Amino acid sequence: MFASKIINWYQKNKRPLPWREINNTYFIWLSEIILQQTRVAQGLPYYERFIDAFPTIEKLALASEQEVLALWQGLGYYSRARNLHKCAKEVVNRYGGTLPSSYGQLLKLPGIGPYTAAAIASLGFNEPVPVVDGNVYRVLARVFGIKENIADSKSFGLFFERSKELIDKEKPGDYNQAVMELGATICLPQNPTCMECPLEAMCYANERKMQAELPVKVKRIRKRDRFLTYLVFEAGDRLALRKREENDIWKGLFEFYKLEGDELYSIDTLPDIELMSVLLKTKTTIKEEVRLPKHLLSHQTIFNSFIYVCVQPTQEMLSWMQQNNLALYSRKEIEMLPKPVLITRYLNSVSK
Ligand code: SF4
Repeated sequence: MFASKIINWYQKNKRPLPWREINNTYFIWLSEIILQQTRVAQGLPYYERFIDAFPTIEKLALASEQEVLALWQGLGYYSRARNLHKCAKEVVNRYGGTLPSSYGQLLKLPGIGPYTAAAIASLGFNEPVPVVDGNVYRVLARVFGIKENIADSKSFGLFFERSKELIDKEKPGDYNQAVMELGATICLPQNPTCMECPLEAMCYANERKMQAELPVKVKRIRKRDRFLTYLVFEAGDRLALRKREENDIWKGLFEFYKLEGDELYSIDTLPDIELMSVLLKTKTTIKEEVRLPKHLLSHQTIFNSFIYVCVQPTQEMLSWMQQNNLALYSRKEIEMLPKPVLITRYLNSVSK
């Protein structure tokens, strides 16, 4: 009854989204990766830009990482973009450019976890494997009164098994999309519109007015404070940037020379002795120091400072830059580089 009620509702009420109009597993995969932790309204323009730039998996595989990251810019969670690219290459090398058709094979590809594998297998290949995401947790917890803590990784197995019992074996793709659509449009985290819900009469939370208590989610996140001081070197109208290579946030994106410590530095307190000695020997003008409001990420708070330094491109300065993987870029070139949102905000603030 649960499956038939929501599938009927879904068929009448689904939003017309581009990847739903055509059965193309590449489009389904791309949409699922983009929409993880992103709302449809925010993700849709990214989806369209990706399809325009890379209409096939082969085209995506042939792109450079820089092109992929530049299109992804602003969506956050950049490892998803890097994995998307890596996965496209593997699909071309191992499967001739077509995604494999089973849940088990899909799970072995980089960046494809249980949720994405289930979405591709059920929507694209009609395999009856359920998706479990935040929407599914919410709808099932409320309808069946499940009180497990969904922040606990052990809960995934419980919801997955329950969904396996509920899924429509004939229409697994419609079933999966129906639960997610209901969670995204009716059974909202706050103020669900129960009066419009096809499950109203059978819903545990609705009967007991427990919508605000379900699902149970007790999270213990410890946010980390970070203090990043950027030195923005300008030499002859060009700015020095480098690609982040560390296994850290923003890997693969471009930023200015950065110093990190337990506090923000000013030009007089820089702890980099080698840099200070190069600066002392180079004609240098400190133009300004800018601090933007703290930048919030899901697990980190970034305190920041940008010190704008005009330098003479002396041999010593240029070789110091080279040793530190910095290269000089014109403003136009910088616009094309993939950058963290914090760097873009800084550039916009100074260009004003
Ligand atoms: S009746 Fe309300 S709480 Fe229950 S599933 Fe529907 S929208 Fe969610």
